[in-house]
Amino acid sequence: MPRWPQSTGPKLCALPECRKPTVNYWKYCAKHYMRYLRHGDPQITKNLATLEGEYRLKAFEGLTYRTWNCWFWLGVVQKHEKSIGYGLFGSLYAHRVAYELYRGPIPEGLQVLHHCDNPRCVNPDHLFLGTSHDNKKDEASKRIRFGRGWRTV
Ligand SMILES: [Zn+2]
Ligand SMILES: [Zn+2]
Repeated sequence: MPRWPQSTGPKLCALPECRKPTVNYWKYCAKHYMRYLRHGDPQITKNLATLEGEYRLKAFEGLTYRTWNCWFWLGVVQKHEKSIGYGLFGSLYAHRVAYELYRGPIPEGLQVLHHCDNPRCVNPDHLFLGTSHDNKKDEASKRIRFGRGWRTV
């Protein structure tokens, strides 16, 4: 008969240099848990946009909620006056990052457009490349403020 595991007191953060008490059943303390949620890795403090390779993919997937249809962006969403704005991955657009991660590089001058008209969607199957001309019909609604000026996505 195995013995019921005995309580060993509060669990400590899995990071050896931290060892603060954990949040609920998590492996990490509150600070590192938040980092894990936000970036997919408890050690990361950098801007998401600077993450590369496997870290970028992990962070991206940690912020994505997949349904059979659209993949919803759980991260920061750009403020938009009239409708829901685009998801942001650090300083980058989440749907553009999705395209690059799952489909490949975006050729210069092309835009990543949504088949599904859901600006928060990052499902690579719903994304396609187009020119600003293709985007023209939606331009007014998709126009967003970014940096110093207006530009379409
Ligand atoms: Zn910690
Ligand atoms: Zn979609």
